[in-house]
Amino acid sequence: MIGPDDPRRVGGRYWSGYWGEEYEVIAFPVFDDWRGRSITVRRREYCVHHTPPCVFVRTATHGTPWESRLGDRIIAEPA
Ligand SMILES: [Zn+2]
Repeated sequence: MIGPDDPRRVGGRYWSGYWGEEYEVIAFPVFDDWRGRSITVRRREYCVHHTPPCVFVRTATHGTPWESRLGDRIIAEPA
C-alpha cells in the first residue's frame, strides 16, 4: 500500500534500489480491497529475443512503498 507521504508523482521517473532499475509512474490506482492505494509503473527490460537496443516495455501495478533506505531515489520530477 502506498502511503500519503510517498514522494512519487505521476509522470516522474525513479530508481528502484531493490530492482536496480529505472521506472516511470503512470498512475496511483485505488482499489476497494486489501490493495488500497497502489502504484502503476512502466519499466524497460532487455528483450530476450533480440540484442540491444531492443527492449520490452512492461506496465505493472503493485503496492511496494518508497524505501529510501533501500536506495530508492528520484531521477526526474514530472514536468
Ligand atoms: Zn526484441
